Amino acid sequence: MELLYSIISIKGTVQGVGFRPFVYRTAHKFNIKGSVLNNSSGVKITAYGSKAELELFIKTLKNSPPPLSSIRHFTVEYIDLDFIPGDFKIINSSEGEENEIDITPDTSICDNCLKELNNKNNRRYGHPFINCTDCGPRYTIITQLPYDRPSTTMLEFEMCSECAKEYNDPFDRRFHAQPICCPECGPVMKLLDNKGVEISCKDPVKESSRLLENRKILAVKGLGGFHLACRADLEETISKLRKRKNREEKPFALMVRDIETANKIALISETELKILNSIEKPILLLKKLKDSENLISEKAAPKVTTFGIMLPYTPLHYLLFKYGSFDALIMTSANRTDNPMEFKNEDALNKLSNIADYFLTNNREIFSRNDDSIIRVINNRPFFLRRARGFVPEPIPVPDKYSVDGIIACGGILKNTITAGRKNMCYVSQYIGTMDNIETLGSMEQILDNLTKLLNIKPKVYAVDKHPDNAGAFHAKNKRLPIQYVQHHHAHAVSCMAENGLSEKTVCITYDGTGYGDDGKIWGGEILITDYHGFMRFAQLSYVPMPGGDLSVKFPWRMAMGTLNKVYKVKELFPDVPDYDKDAVIEILNAEISCPLTSSMGRLFDSLSAILGICLVRNYEGQPAIELEAIADKNEYSEYEFNYSSGYPILINGPDILCKAIDDLKAGIPVPKISAKFHNTIARLTSVIAEEAVNQTNSRNVCLTGGCFQNALLLERTIMYLEEKGLNPVTHKLVSPNDEGISYGQAVIAGAIYYKKNKFA
Ligand code: ZN
Ligand code: ZN
Ligand code: FE
Repeated sequence: MELLYSIISIKGTVQGVGFRPFVYRTAHKFNIKGSVLNNSSGVKITAYGSKAELELFIKTLKNSPPPLSSIRHFTVEYIDLDFIPGDFKIINSSEGEENEIDITPDTSICDNCLKELNNKNNRRYGHPFINCTDCGPRYTIITQLPYDRPSTTMLEFEMCSECAKEYNDPFDRRFHAQPICCPECGPVMKLLDNKGVEISCKDPVKESSRLLENRKILAVKGLGGFHLACRADLEETISKLRKRKNREEKPFALMVRDIETANKIALISETELKILNSIEKPILLLKKLKDSENLISEKAAPKVTTFGIMLPYTPLHYLLFKYGSFDALIMTSANRTDNPMEFKNEDALNKLSNIADYFLTNNREIFSRNDDSIIRVINNRPFFLRRARGFVPEPIPVPDKYSVDGIIACGGILKNTITAGRKNMCYVSQYIGTMDNIETLGSMEQILDNLTKLLNIKPKVYAVDKHPDNAGAFHAKNKRLPIQYVQHHHAHAVSCMAENGLSEKTVCITYDGTGYGDDGKIWGGEILITDYHGFMRFAQLSYVPMPGGDLSVKFPWRMAMGTLNKVYKVKELFPDVPDYDKDAVIEILNAEISCPLTSSMGRLFDSLSAILGICLVRNYEGQPAIELEAIADKNEYSEYEFNYSSGYPILINGPDILCKAIDDLKAGIPVPKISAKFHNTIARLTSVIAEEAVNQTNSRNVCLTGGCFQNALLLERTIMYLEEKGLNPVTHKLVSPNDEGISYGQAVIAGAIYYKKNKFA
């Protein structure tokens, strides 16, 4: 029998996911001798055995790795050896120089742990911190690499002898499960009132369920931070929460007991069911069912046709539902208006004492804050509305010949993320928030610091938005490294191109609310022809004034008056708005004072939303367009005529479309039909101009990006009309179409420019 000796190197997400015990068990199964160890670039295996058994061994490693792992590189090298290794061994981690490993995202409790949680005879029965190598906290508790117990916030909890036995047994499900613990040795729950005084009770979790039942609002510490929780069926309680949180209408996320409950309140497709049930357990936007009011109060998500729903994902969540009689809870990130979610015990108590009645907390520290992810299925495919817990920090690749090594991209202003580059991988951070306050800026710096340290990235270049008030630029300037400025919509365009592997000149439709343009104006309705080095502005919405600047964003009726000023007797509009308010707007429009110009598609949607009486005052970002989409008659396929200028950039006449919508309104056409016709019109004109634009490229690809494409109706119709013309619509899969995707695009652009000048590192 021929005996061979081989060295196997595996890279990717292979640490902290039970990879070494899996290798160990597989080696035993196939009689392989040798060893396995974690090193700085992944997992290294030396294996000795017969040719046939080695082949089976390698095949098993490749084809059935542990559920949470993901293999990026797998190399096998056969070598000669003059000694025979002993029984297969697991060698402990050693710190290396160059880190190339990835960090595993946090995942929801696995089936095995859930069974133990509910098994009275198990020693972890009812233990809110139960986990194993297949599940539990990861990214949120890792403080450094390599991933070992001392590199996590579990460091301070000494394992009891039973846990230590499991931890050291390669045949145990908890072999080297770093967060391993039990009621004997693990963290403990605490229930406090809003003055920080501990409530004495036998079981803080049971007591919390009782308080929730009794209409209280609780701050509950979860995986990536605190949630504010209360029953979802009680109008009065939700109104109280809205008042305390200063959040009038923005829909709250719901956590429901189980799939059966979800089925009672929302329409769920097969694709959606899979995502709802996935180990990532994101919040999923699902279509409301009509008779769901007895389970979910109208106040939970007013004026929209969807619910944001997630299933329990930590052992604690399961226990809260087990001990409580409620079927659905409001579970919203615990923060004060515009601030990041609280994730430290003390901060939470200090800052949320006016919002929460009680605090259900524990002494396992969260190292990296991480919000819940939000997904919406459009055209049977998932789109990120927010990419965070469960997905971050999984890397997003850049097309082969490009490097982003050492690029730090600071993103934009709204819905920000940051990106750190290593080789040709982008590590896009979790959702950070809107960069308009010191807390969020602090959060950005913290996350950036954590990511670069964990991934061992040495910053070389900063990529920042061109906006003069941009906090990212402020941060970058302090670092005394080269800065690459990137235009907002260029970054959007490239984010969609790069994640789809495109790098040649491509037509990119970028429709969003706001982005600083190269001419100093506010862009947002742009059709660009783009590569990584630059872009040509092929078409745009014609500029219109925004009377009072940001006031027009807050009050869509003002925006509508700005959009229509030159072409319509605007004072006739909005009979409910006092004349003196309208006169003031008309005055500044005529004087052209404090009226910045915009080509924003988001603002055109806002204008129509106001004109149709749907949303005159905006309470949260995107509200006017979200409600405009919600009301649209999805069976209406007609559209308005539209016109645009010749010459570049092509100017699309937005106000003219609004005038036609007003004509319809006057003629008594129902609002849902007008809304749909408007959506169809934007989709149609986009496809017509895209068809002209692709002639200037070598492909039929058309990228669709920007926050407006979170609108399902707009996206579906645009895809449909593009395909009718034989064009190939390209959409996001890995990053969000909204401003969360900006940092990824910036990193790719900055990398392309830097490494063209500096040769590859
Ligand atoms: Zn588990
Ligand atoms: Zn223990
Ligand atoms: Fe944007």
